[in-house]
Amino acid sequence: MSRKRVLLAHTGGTIGMRRGPGGYEPAPGHLERLLAAMPELSSPELPETELVEFEPLLDSSDMAPSDWQRVARIIESRYDRFDGFVVLHGTDTLAYTASALSFLLEGLGKPVVVTGSQVPLGEVRTDARENLVGSLLVAAGGQLPEVTVCFGGLVMRGNRVTKVSSTGFAAFESPNFPPLVRLGVAIEPGPAAPRPPAEGPLRVADLRPVSVAALRLFPGITPELVANVLRPPLSGLVLETYGAGNAPTRDPALLEALASAVGRGVVVVNTTQCLRGGVDMDGYATGSALRRAGVVSGADMTPEAALAKLIWLLGQGLEPARVRELAAQDLRGELTA
Ligand code: ASP
Repeated sequence: MSRKRVLLAHTGGTIGMRRGPGGYEPAPGHLERLLAAMPELSSPELPETELVEFEPLLDSSDMAPSDWQRVARIIESRYDRFDGFVVLHGTDTLAYTASALSFLLEGLGKPVVVTGSQVPLGEVRTDARENLVGSLLVAAGGQLPEVTVCFGGLVMRGNRVTKVSSTGFAAFESPNFPPLVRLGVAIEPGPAAPRPPAEGPLRVADLRPVSVAALRLFPGITPELVANVLRPPLSGLVLETYGAGNAPTRDPALLEALASAVGRGVVVVNTTQCLRGGVDMDGYATGSALRRAGVVSGADMTPEAALAKLIWLLGQGLEPARVRELAAQDLRGELTA
């Protein structure tokens, strides 16, 4: 039987970096040379690979929504030639890109695995080798035809992950959804059923630039600050609230600022600052006040997924009422309805 074919899309990030005068930095062609020196990549147990490199390679802190779109286009333009796709990415904004790809790749029927590493592939104590080999197996396996993240021995739904460690090899967690696969001595499927392949063909929407923001509430936050963030041309806001979705209500001006922005068509999505659990705007008076102001529940979405979803919905030019409706719905397994 012929080996499966997997495209490696290298966007940048620690996995392919080299030490420079100011610390680790992207280096064109460096990863290709390292991969060529890995004998395991010719093993019949792994798929054949082809590498495509971003120009310029980016530390993921430098990535913007237009770069999410570039990754989606790389996959779209080679979709029929490969069995699966591995996106090599920096860890800093990997959760945003993985979430965005889950929305952008409509009709996806093949695995797209996003990975990276905490230590570059070229270093002795690297975690890149394990993350890469795991990703290649998932991408070639075909059992998970959705966007996943493979990192630190776990394969997780891409729009459920968040970066939880800047130093540990288990850098990502999926706090509100069980891992899809655990890569231990055995490859163990998780308790949740994988998503069925979406109805093709693959489609990638052209996103127009939109003005969105994320705002984390803090004790002492003023209505003026909130009103300033909500000023035009803002069209969407991810509000990171306390606990089950609560916000300060003692000064009505803060709620008035939110209600007036919602009245102008700004879509405000409520996500919790808590790592686990989600928003229930009927649990406390401080939460139901937000619902009355027109804030939409983000349920148990991560703030990263909520932001990527807003950019994707608003970027297609949908009406605010439609964006509000879709923001609260489960579209790609990103929230528990
Ligand atoms: N700053 C790096 C990046 O996100 C960190 C990493 O890759 O781990 O590109």
